[in-house]
Order: sequence, then C-alpha cells, then structure tokens
Amino acid sequence: MNRPIYLDCHATTPVDDRVLAAMLPYFTEHFGNASSVGHAYGWEAEAAIAQAREILANAIGATPEEIIFTSGATEANNLAIKGVAESYFSRGKHIITLQTEHNAVLDPCRYLESLGFEITFLPVQADGLMDLVTLEKALRDDTILVSVMAANNEIGVLQPLAEIGALCHDWRCQAPKDRNILFHTDAAQAIGKIPLNVEAMKIDLMSLTAHKVYGAKGIGALYVRRRNPRVQLAAQLHGGGQERGLRAGTLSTPLIVGLGKAVEIALQEMPSESERINRLRDRMWQSLQTLDGVYLNGHATQRLSGNLNVSVENVDGQALLLALQPAIAVSSGSACTSAKIAPSHVLQALGLTDSLAYASLRFGIGRFNTEEECDRAVHCVINAIQSLRDR
Ligand SMILES: *Cc1c(COP(=O)(O)O)cnc(C)c1O
Repeated sequence: MNRPIYLDCHATTPVDDRVLAAMLPYFTEHFGNASSVGHAYGWEAEAAIAQAREILANAIGATPEEIIFTSGATEANNLAIKGVAESYFSRGKHIITLQTEHNAVLDPCRYLESLGFEITFLPVQADGLMDLVTLEKALRDDTILVSVMAANNEIGVLQPLAEIGALCHDWRCQAPKDRNILFHTDAAQAIGKIPLNVEAMKIDLMSLTAHKVYGAKGIGALYVRRRNPRVQLAAQLHGGGQERGLRAGTLSTPLIVGLGKAVEIALQEMPSESERINRLRDRMWQSLQTLDGVYLNGHATQRLSGNLNVSVENVDGQALLLALQPAIAVSSGSACTSAKIAPSHVLQALGLTDSLAYASLRFGIGRFNTEEECDRAVHCVINAIQSLRDR
C-alpha cells in the first residue's frame, strides 16, 4: 500500500538526512551537558551549541548573544509576548497583533487580555496582507508591542516586515524618550524560505522553529535584540539560569545542532529551491483552474513559494478531505485548529463565507516533493471534486 503523497509542509516537514546525520553523534558519543563547565563532555556540547547559535544569528543578521533556544515557536511566542507584557506594563498595556496570526500568538494575547492588557486584533485585507495605514492609526502612546507574523501558516502571505519595523521605530523617535514600541515577528514559516534581517527590518524579537525547515520537532529559538533598544524580557521558565536567565532548562544539544544544520542548508539552497517549488506550485494552480469555482486564497505573489490555498465551490469540505486522504496528505485550515470543527479564523478574516472557508485545501509543497507527485496530487483533487459535484 502506497503512503499518501505528503503535501502538508506548513504543518511539519520530515527531517533532512543531512540534519539527522549532524544530530546523531550528540545523542550518543557527545552526550555531555553544555552546563558542565568542568570537563570535556560539557565543552564539546557547549562548542556545538555555540556553532549552531552562530549559524542562526548569521542567518537573520543578529549576534549569537541575541539567540535564546526554546522548545519551538510556540514557546518563543509566549516568551516574547508575555515576557514583554510583564516587563513593560508600567509604560503601557496596549499590544497590537493581527486577526490572522497563529494561535501561538493569539492565545498568549487573549490570556494577557484576561489580565487587563488591551489587545488590538487588526483586520487584514481580502488578500491577507495587512494595511500599514490601519496599523499606524492603531499605534498609541501606551502601545508596548506590535506582533505581526512574517509568513502565514495557512495562506502563506508575507507581511511587509521592513515597513512595520520602520513604523514602530519612527513612532519610537517621535514619542517621549522612554517609550519603545517593540516589534515581534513569528517567523516559524519564514526562516529558510525568505531572506530575513533583523537590522534592515528593525525587528526586536523573532520566533523560530526547526520542524518547518526539515529539522526536529521540539526545538526553536527566540531572537531578542540587545542593542538600540535593549529588549527587557521577563523569563517564563525559571531554574538553572541557562540562556542568560531567560529560559532555564538543560539545552538539547542534538536538537540544537540539528536546528543549526537545518537553517544552514535552507539558506544555501534558498535561491534554487524557492524557484523550483514556486514552479511546482504555479503548475498545480494552473491545473486546478481548469475547474470552475476554484479560488486562490491569499495574495497571488506576495506569498511563500510552497503555499497553495484554494477554496472550492459546491463541494462539502469534510467530504473532499475524506476523499483525498488515502492519496494525498493535505490539510484544510491549520493543523492546530483542525481538531475543532470550526472554519479557519484566517479564511474568515479574509471575508470568505463559511462554506468556502470549510471547503478549502492547503497544499504545502516542500523540498522532497517532485513534479510527478504534484501532477498526481492535482489529478486526484480534480477527480475528487468532479465526482463530489456529480453526486
Ligand atoms: C508551526 C507554527 C508555530 C508553532 O511552532 P512550534 O515550533 O510547533 O511550537 C507557530 N507559528 C507559526 C506561524 C507556525 O507555523
């Protein structure tokens, strides 16, 4: 029995063989604790982690001291948002984010709302992009944080990070001296797929994860700016004082080594891979358009190369997913919300009707997908839609 063709790379990606090979020795031979400063086992682990930290820092234009390892993007988002809220509440209690953010941003924001913070959940335009004028109007004297994702996990839309960073920064210049508006971005889907630079984009905090770029699940990082301004964060995990006291807990050497390797590979291959994957995506979309009543969700070009999100008219969403499931692994809405039977909050924010939001498919094309697989997948989708419509 053939396994379904995997086209769900926004949910997770397989570990690249080269990443696995880099990790393996750190499970066995080099098992030391990086906090063991008194012997060679500890030094080996510490050196390997330092190297990964440097790769990550270079990848985003940061310095190694600005990288804090976490268990993934969820934890990085929680540390960034709750950590800022706890540190800066005396300056203000207003935070701005988008309605289309991942739940790992929305839920910490809702939690803070329950504690008395004021959160503005900005709407997006019909193409999924945010409007900078709307953001500018929402900025207030008591705004402490703007959190806007780099790339959306459902519709792949790329938000204008540099423009947002400039807005937060300009505001900072005009405002009284002690007011900062910090800019956080959840870059879980963006790292290794699009160029990111915390200086050029004026980003103060950036969440990263390994498992969307062919690294392991359970490892990620938060970039925390240490200069102009130096971001003050309240730790969310207390204990052994690791990661400058910002995130206690023994560092997972193998997973961190893998994260470094995964990002290194993704950066090297970014130009050729994004072009190849872009071509596969456009090819799939062209074939799907031979059907009537199939719509692209999200901006046509300002999006991740591997993302194709479509809504299908006159088809029941659940029935469609069920019909496809033996042949292809895709998702409708995001993996994190699919347990609840509710239309995707992202597609709703674009203004889609419930039935179009339900009858949507998210294809995530990745490194290991071939043209032949994509052709076969589209063929299956077209057949399934036609037969459901003929009933
Ligand atoms: C996957 C994802 C997360 C969660 O990352 P984990 O490392 O699984 O915690 C957060 N934000 C976005 C945009 C994601 O795609």
